[in-house]
Amino acid sequence: MASALTDKLSRLVKEMRGQARITESNVQDMLREVRMALLEADVALPVVRDFIARVKEKALGQEVLSSLQPGQVLVSIVNTELAATMGEGVSDINLNAQPPAVILMAGLQGAGKTTTTAKLAKHLIEKRKKKVLTVSGDVYRPAAIEQLKTVTAQAGAEWFPSTPDQKPLDIARGALDYAKRHFFDVLLVDTAGRLAIDEALMREIQDLHGALKPVETLFVVDAMQGQDAINTAKAFKEALPLTGIVLTKLDGDSRGGAALSVRQITGAPIKFAGVSEKLDGLEVFDAQRHAGRVLG
Ligand code: GDP
Repeated sequence: MASALTDKLSRLVKEMRGQARITESNVQDMLREVRMALLEADVALPVVRDFIARVKEKALGQEVLSSLQPGQVLVSIVNTELAATMGEGVSDINLNAQPPAVILMAGLQGAGKTTTTAKLAKHLIEKRKKKVLTVSGDVYRPAAIEQLKTVTAQAGAEWFPSTPDQKPLDIARGALDYAKRHFFDVLLVDTAGRLAIDEALMREIQDLHGALKPVETLFVVDAMQGQDAINTAKAFKEALPLTGIVLTKLDGDSRGGAALSVRQITGAPIKFAGVSEKLDGLEVFDAQRHAGRVLG
C-alpha cells in the first residue's frame, strides 16, 4: 500500500531512508505530510488530529528511532493505523436472527436510503438467496413511498404498502407481522429523513428501533458530505445503536475522507459503498482498498 501514499510522502521516505539517523524533526515533517493528505481527502479535522496523535506516539517510540529503515517503519505505522481506523477486511450484512431479520435504514433525506434499500434487497436476493420484503415509513413524503415501490419492483423484492395517513410505528408493525406470516427472510425498513438533524425524527426512528428490534441498524451517509458527515454521524450514533454504515455516492467523491471520519465517530463498520445510482451499484466495502485511496 506504500505505493498509494502521496508523491510527497514517498519522497520524504526516500530522503529519510538515506539518513543514518532519524530525528524527531523528520518524524514531524512526515506527520505534516500525512496530515495534509488526510485533510485534502476531506477527513474531518478532529479525526485527523486523533489519527496523527496516535501515529506520533508510535512513531516516536524507540523501535522507529533506532530502526535501520525508519522511513519504511513510519509508513507501515501510518498504514496500519489507517487500516485499523477504517476497519479490517470486509463485513457483510448480519442476518443472524429469527426470520424475518429486520434491517433498519437511517440517515438524512437525500443520503440515498431508498436507493440503498433497493440495492440491498437485490444484493440479498441474488447473493444470499433471501426472500425480501421492503416497507417505507416515510409518511411525510408520499413520493418517497412510491419511489420505494418502484425500486423494490426493479430489485425483484416484494413491497409492503404504506400511506401518508398512517403512523410509522403502525406501518412497521404491520409489515413485520406480514413478513412473519409470509415467511420472509428479511424485512428492510426505509425511514423518513429530514434535510437536517431533527429531534422529532430521531425520536421516531428510536421508537421504530424499539418496536422492530432490528438485527442491523444501518446509517446511510453521503460520502460527498465530506466533513459535514461527522455531525450527522454523531447525531445518529447518539440516537441509535448503529451496527453498520453504508457510504453512498462514493462514485462522486474522489477524496473518500468521509469514510475515515464516519467510521471513527460511530465505531461501526462500513459495510457497503454505493458507487452508482443503479441498483447494481452497491459494493461490499473493502477497508484496505479504501485506505489506499484516502492517502492519495
Ligand atoms: P433518500 O432521501 O435518503 O431516500 O435518498 P434517495 O435514495 O432518494 O437518493 C437521493 C439521490 O441520490 C437519488 O438521485 C439517487 O439516485 C442518488 N444516489 C443514491 N445512492 C447513490 C450512489 O451510490 N451513487 C450515486 N451517484 N447516486 C446515488
